[in-house]
Amino acid sequence: MITRDEIRELAAFSADETTGACALSFYFQPDTPQDRSHRSEAILAKDLVKQALKEGQGKGRNGGLHADLDRILAVAGRLRGHARGHAVFACSAQNFWKEFDLPPRLAATGIFIQSRFQLKPLASLLGAQPSLRVVIVDRQRARFFDLRLDELREREAIVHMLSRSAADYGYQGYDAGHAERRISDEALQHFKAVAGRLRSGREKGVWERLIVGCQDSNWPEFEANLHPDVRQRLIGRFSADVASVGPEEIRDRANSVLNQWIAERGHTKASEALDLAKANGRAVTGLRRVLQALETGEVQSLFLNENYSARAVACTNCGHLDAHMIPECKACGKPTRELADVSEAIIPIAIRRDIELFYLKDHAELDRAGNIAALLRFRADQNRTGQVAAVS
Ligand SMILES: [Zn+2]
Repeated sequence: MITRDEIRELAAFSADETTGACALSFYFQPDTPQDRSHRSEAILAKDLVKQALKEGQGKGRNGGLHADLDRILAVAGRLRGHARGHAVFACSAQNFWKEFDLPPRLAATGIFIQSRFQLKPLASLLGAQPSLRVVIVDRQRARFFDLRLDELREREAIVHMLSRSAADYGYQGYDAGHAERRISDEALQHFKAVAGRLRSGREKGVWERLIVGCQDSNWPEFEANLHPDVRQRLIGRFSADVASVGPEEIRDRANSVLNQWIAERGHTKASEALDLAKANGRAVTGLRRVLQALETGEVQSLFLNENYSARAVACTNCGHLDAHMIPECKACGKPTRELADVSEAIIPIAIRRDIELFYLKDHAELDRAGNIAALLRFRADQNRTGQVAAVS
C-alpha cells in the first residue's frame, strides 16, 4: 500500500520532455458486483492500453513509452478478478516504475500520458485522510487496529479473563446478584483499561481519529469511560462483535464511517471557507486568488468541485502559475507554457505541502464561487501590513 513519502515522490517527478520522455499513469478500478453483467474492467483496461499503444506508434520520439505500455499491458492482463484498485506510474526513460494496490474506490479505469504523473485519482482518495485508529471492544476483549488507505493492521489487543471468583459465582448461582456485580465491575475495569490505552496512544500522537466497533448494548458504558480528548476525536461507530468480526468487515465498516465523515467535514469546511472569504477573512475563492495564496504558502485546505478543470499557464523557468493566459511570466519574464488543466499543477503542490485537499460533490455555494476555494493559515497581505508598520 502506498505511503505518504511515496506519494510525495510521485508528486515531485517530472519527465524531461526535451528527450521525449513522458510520465505514464495507469489506474485500475475493479468491477463492482452491480456491473458484473457489463464488460469486465480487466478487458477494458487492456483495450485502453492497446489504444494508447496504437496512438503512441505514430509519434517519432516516444522515449520508452512503448516499452512502458507493453509492461502495463501485462499488468492489466493479470488484474482480471482483482478485487482491489491498482495503479502503475512509469517512465522507463528515467528508470521509474512503481505499482500500488489501492482501495477499490477509484472513479474509473484510465491511462494518462503527460509530463507529470496524474495524481487526481490518488488525491481524491487521500482527501484528508487522518491517521485512524479502530478499536473493536466488548466486555472482556479489545483489539486495536490502524487503518490507512484501506490497509488494516492489528496493533495490539487486550483480553481480561474473568477472575476465577467471578466465574465461579456465575456457575454456582446461590449469589447471582453478587456475581453479576462482580462481572460488571470487571467489565468496567476492562473498559477503563481500553480507554486508558486509547488515551496514551493519542498523547503519543499514534493516531488522530478514532472509530469504535462494539455491540450497541456496550456502547453507553464504554463511551462514558473515554477521556474527553479521545471522545472529541471519535468520528463514528459501528456495530460489531469481537468474537466474530473479520478483518474485511472491520475495514469495510470503518471505511464507510470514514468516507461519510470526510464528505461531511469537507462540506462543512468549504461552507466555512466561503463565509470567511466573504468577510475578507482567512479564505479566498476563485482560481486567481487561490493560485496567489498557494504561492505565498498561505493555504491550509483546498476545496475543489469534483469535476473542476481550468486552463492556466505555468512559467517554464520559475514555476509561477497564472490564471491569465499570458505568454510571459509576471514574476521573471520567461516564457510560460499552457496547462490544459491547472489541477495538474495544483495537486502536486498540495501533496508536497501537506495541504488538505477536498473534492466536493454538489456544493452549490462553491459552484457559485468559481468551483475552487482555499482556507488559509494566515493572510500574507494582512501580516505584511503589520510588519511594515513595525519596521517603519
Ligand atoms: Zn517565472
